[in-house]
Order: sequence, then C-alpha cells, then structure tokens
Amino acid sequence: MIFTTRFAPSPTGPLHLGHAYSALLAADMARTAEGRFLLRVEDIDSSRARPEWEDGIYDDLAWLGLTWETPVMRQSGRLPAYRAALTRLWALGLLYPCTCSRRDIAAAAEAPQEGVPPAFGPDGLIYPGTCRQIPNPASPLPNAVLRLNMARALRTLADPLVFTETGASPEGETGQIILSHVMLLADVGDIILARAEMGASYHLSVVIDDAAQGVTLVPRGQDLFTATYIHVVLQKLLGLPTPTYHHHRLIRDENGKRLAKRDDARAIRLYRDEGKTPADIRAMVGL
Ligand code: GLU
Ligand code: ZN
Repeated sequence: MIFTTRFAPSPTGPLHLGHAYSALLAADMARTAEGRFLLRVEDIDSSRARPEWEDGIYDDLAWLGLTWETPVMRQSGRLPAYRAALTRLWALGLLYPCTCSRRDIAAAAEAPQEGVPPAFGPDGLIYPGTCRQIPNPASPLPNAVLRLNMARALRTLADPLVFTETGASPEGETGQIILSHVMLLADVGDIILARAEMGASYHLSVVIDDAAQGVTLVPRGQDLFTATYIHVVLQKLLGLPTPTYHHHRLIRDENGKRLAKRDDARAIRLYRDEGKTPADIRAMVGL
C-alpha cells in the first residue's frame, strides 16, 4: 500500500488561502513519505461547479509549485460508480426515499419536546425520521432524496467503528477515534446519500473515490471532522478500507474568523496579482 494523500477541491469558487494550506500540507506529507499526491475535482454539484473555477484551481496549484498525477479524477465522470453503491445499499434495505422539505424537518424536529432546541449533525438538523416508516416504493420517487436508515445499517455491522486521527478534532481529540452506535444515532442519524439533481451526496462520493484512488491519508479541514463519522460507517457498509485522517486547523482571517468558501478577498489569484510569491503564501499559512 503506497502512502497516498489527496486534495479534493470543489470548483465552485476561487482557490483561497485555506485551500492552499490543505493542498500544500497534503503534497508535503506525500513528499516526506515518498508517497503519492493526488488531485480530485469534486464537481458533482453541476449547479455550482464551473470549468473556469476548475482551470483556476489547476493554475493556482501549479503556481504554488505542486505537481500531481494525471488524468485527474473528476466526480462528474463517476456517476456509475456512485449508482452501483446506491443500488447495493438499496438491495440491503438500508435506504429509503424522503420527500420532506427543510421546513417539514424543522417542524418535526421541534415537535417532540417543545422548547428544546433540535440537534444538529454534520449535515444540519438531525433528520427526525418522518419518512422512515413508509414502505419503500418499487421504483424511486421523483424528487425524493435517499436517506440511510442508520439504525438498520448499524445492526448489520459487527466490527467496531473506529478511525485513526493524526491531526485533531476542533476539541483536540486525536489518535484512535471510536464511534459508538449511540452517538451515531443521536448525532448523525439518517443522512442523505443521494439527491435527485446530483445522483450522490458528497459523503457517498468522497468515500467511494478515496477508496478508488487508493488514498491512505486524508488531510482536510477540522470542519469535516464529524463528517468522518459518516464516512467510516459508509466504508464499513460498502466493504471499503478506512484511510487515516488528518484534520488540520482552519486558516482564519486577521479577525480570527474562519475563511468562508466565498471569501474571495483571500483568493490566491489576488495575492498573485499583488506580487506575492509561493513562499509568501507558505509563510502566511504557517508552513
Ligand atoms: N470537496 C470538499 C470541499 O472542497 C472537500 C472534501 C474532502 O476533503 O473530503 O470542501
Ligand atoms: Zn422525509
């Protein structure tokens, strides 16, 4: 197994300082270990992904001094692989269609205990399970999302759910991270694995592609730490290996605020135009 890291940007905006940190860290780790550094373009959300942004990402990464293997994996070309996984989970009886709107979910999540704030998971409000009891239709409903029946999924898994963290969670957890069924039911719940317009959710596609690319170490921001809970469950359900994870600190602006996806003020392109060098960028992100 060759030590393999990856950087997996979504081409929905310019590459900014936070992305540059993630990409440089992944490439540095691969170089130190004499391993591979891969790039993957996460462009399944066709309503937001743009070829111009993708070209800009390649251009900025090359300017930063990075090299990567080609051809680059692009998620828009991977729908058959995602569909095969969904078919498998569906055949196992672990998926169900859900037609709840955001508003339905908020109302149902509030209902059981008046005044108790509803719980949030890696994907927003924890789904209250409204559509779980409805018998599955013979063919997919139009406009429905497909949710994972977490309770049923966990009952099919005998192995302990665990991953190795070499970075840290926002709370500083590191090392062996053990995921209990109780926590997964309460804090993650029945997450969405497929949407009508995208075919597969981020969670499903990222798990399938990390395995397909032979990624052994996933460096990414701490904001995705709890998403890893979902990824480990999916890896077990689909018989895929669990890579090691390295959740890194988030790059903040001078006010200590996390850089948002759309924080174009920190776009690498703008620093380039100002005359900054790749060494300046490394210094700015603390590498
Ligand atoms: N495509 C995701 C993003 O740009 C990153 C996914 C990951 O690193 O797992 O936020
Ligand atoms: Zn529903």
